[in-house]
Amino acid sequence: MRKKIVAGNWKMNKNFLEGIDLAKELVEKHQPSESNKQLVVCPPFIHTAALSELFSATSIELGAQNCHTSDKGAYTGEISAGMLKSLNAKYCLVGHSERRANFFEDNQELFQKCKQLLANDIRPIFCCGEMLEDRREGAYFDVIEDQLEVLWKLSKTDFQKVVIAYEPIWAIGTGETATAAQAQEVHAFIRSQVAKKMDVTIAENTSILYGGSCKASNAIELFSKPDVDGGLIGGAALQADEILAIYNAL
Ligand code: PEP
Repeated sequence: MRKKIVAGNWKMNKNFLEGIDLAKELVEKHQPSESNKQLVVCPPFIHTAALSELFSATSIELGAQNCHTSDKGAYTGEISAGMLKSLNAKYCLVGHSERRANFFEDNQELFQKCKQLLANDIRPIFCCGEMLEDRREGAYFDVIEDQLEVLWKLSKTDFQKVVIAYEPIWAIGTGETATAAQAQEVHAFIRSQVAKKMDVTIAENTSILYGGSCKASNAIELFSKPDVDGGLIGGAALQADEILAIYNAL
């Protein structure tokens, strides 16, 4: 049975003490349900060590928002997958639209990041999604198909550790959520691509998350769709009660 996941992406929010307070509130209030339902927190790097400690005796998994393409070396300001592993990180975002747009991350770079993470037993949460123009022009399947190319270069063994997040760019941070039907349509398409390029069993076991203005008030409807296996949550992850309500909608 594939995992249901709610992953919070704090982005560049919360100073050190604010982050600790939020993490402590999550630890205090989180009531894990079934074992295949997972809460993941992806804080800024400054919080990683402290949250690793805070989450160690809980069911909350630690994630990260980025890593470098190399394992070590003269890359001032960067963090490697091995460093994340040493703090017990289990997930890491790859190819978030903000990084694709602001840091010009291309498919080759995203592939290298996936390889680094997988070599360190960290599950990539691979983000894909179209811009508003792509949707208006009806080109969204083509865009997503191109973005997914990165994943088909992985071995089947590696691919099975990947989580995919569909995040339509027009819905990120805008308050405009994709309808549950729009999300389902794309998630079913992504799953069909996985079945074609990997196999049907792998496709059935792949967790595909929705991201883009997901909140407690729309999570139940989104998660009710058969191919929506949870959410990647930005703004709503900054409040403990809100992200926990989203988790409870799984
Ligand atoms: C995100 O950036 O991954 C995201 C989904 O943001 P938001 O929930 O704020 O739209």
